[in-house]
Amino acid sequence: MVQYSRRQFMQVTGSTLAGSSLALMGFSPTNALAEVRQYKLAATTVTRQTCTYCSVGCGVLMYSLGDGSKNTRLSIMHIEGDPDHPVNRGTLCPKGAGLLDFIHSPNRLQFPEYRAPGSNEWKRLSWDDALTRISKLLKDDRDANFVEKTEDGLTVNRWITTGMLAASASSNEAGYVTHKVARSWGLLALDNQARV
Ligand code: SF4
Repeated sequence: MVQYSRRQFMQVTGSTLAGSSLALMGFSPTNALAEVRQYKLAATTVTRQTCTYCSVGCGVLMYSLGDGSKNTRLSIMHIEGDPDHPVNRGTLCPKGAGLLDFIHSPNRLQFPEYRAPGSNEWKRLSWDDALTRISKLLKDDRDANFVEKTEDGLTVNRWITTGMLAASASSNEAGYVTHKVARSWGLLALDNQARV
């Protein structure tokens, strides 16, 4: 006769009871195992992007749900490494693997904000107002500080009182165009967070 400890007895009788109850309710493990598992990304839209965190610039695939109809907004529900991306070949470090939390964080900055000199309050701006303000300040500063020639007559065409930091989520091509535009202004202080 097989001897059971009290713990083994509870495990055996518990699993037998659960199995027979499920069978009585019509659940068959054979049917369940034969069921084709639904692919959770089947109805999603995929968008290629670059991880926003660090200068490695790994490629990511972002999957969003929503049919794109009027008055609906797509919502990102899954992110994974892009297997076709030359930098990471589908891999992501723990920070990149946690991008979904970053995207849905209530603390994430999603709109331009402005804090006036001496104020401790940030005010939301429209994108139009923000871009107009940035353009105007850039032009004013360039008009006042652009240096065409040094004192000894050497042509330099430089503007060193403003700098620019380009975002890591821009593509190689966007980084290239940003570089060309900034250099055409005479801007020397330029960096791009990702090494794209
Ligand atoms: S996944 Fe990690 S290594 Fe790659 S860009 Fe993001 S933070 Fe950097």
